[in-house]
Amino acid sequence: MYSRVLRFAPSPNGYLHLGHAYSALLNHDLAREFGGRLLLRIEDIDVERCRPEYEAAIYEDLRWLGITWVEPVRRQSEHFDDYAAALTELEAQGLLYPSFESRSELSAIVAELDRHGHWPRDPDGVPIYPGRARKLSAAERTRRRAAGEPFALRLAMDAAVARAGALRWTETGAGPHGQAGIVTAAPQLWGDVVLARKETPTSYHLAAVLDDALQGVTDVVRGQDLFWTTSIHRLLQVLLGLPEPTYHHHKLILDDDGHKLSKSTKSTGLRELRATGATPRDIRRMVGLGR
Ligand code: GLU
Repeated sequence: MYSRVLRFAPSPNGYLHLGHAYSALLNHDLAREFGGRLLLRIEDIDVERCRPEYEAAIYEDLRWLGITWVEPVRRQSEHFDDYAAALTELEAQGLLYPSFESRSELSAIVAELDRHGHWPRDPDGVPIYPGRARKLSAAERTRRRAAGEPFALRLAMDAAVARAGALRWTETGAGPHGQAGIVTAAPQLWGDVVLARKETPTSYHLAAVLDDALQGVTDVVRGQDLFWTTSIHRLLQVLLGLPEPTYHHHKLILDDDGHKLSKSTKSTGLRELRATGATPRDIRRMVGLGR
């Protein structure tokens, strides 16, 4: 019988907090309800910020919560070759180009553009790529890369959208504005997104989309903060010929001031709560999954 596959995919760049607990427990509960499997993926492509002790803590905290997953765990840092192969495929389609501006150069360009009217921001509030690298000649690109200049590989969004055509996804949760049902994707809202950098040979988007396909994930259950990034994920799935999962974006657990929890929020860290005597049942209650 067709079996559903879910995944919890934390980044080991800090200790887990109540927001992670909610996402992991919801994935676990839904996998049970569907008679499906729960996988665990460690999203550690940012080798500067990810640490083995945080990864060890993830296993410990999840086990303490009573969550089990089907082995093996997929650790993204062990699969850079898979991501490189996908990049080569997109490059062969003529959809990637390198840009060479530094972050401060980009900020200066945006500041100048803002003086002539508000330059557009992506759904996360980050300025759309304003550079002109798409216009560099092939010879210039090759010369600058060969010279060892830092670069970001960007998706030529207009060309990619033209190639992929209209995109939708099935949402069984809710977006920031309450959308459920069939959602029309709008990847162009993100501009020419970065898919890799000289020092990090994949982006979150590329790695997550490829891994969801490689791991046979049928149901992506994750936080609402990633709702609109699903537009980019659908686009990459179509360009790379990957299957389409169903998406379920869940509520975020907020602090008392209504802010999203960060990894440094001590009072909501699972280890801190455990140290003060909280039980896994208390954690379930705190995130609204209590019985
Ligand atoms: N690694 C991401 C995070 O820690 C989750 C990505 C996903 O679920 O697609 O927020």
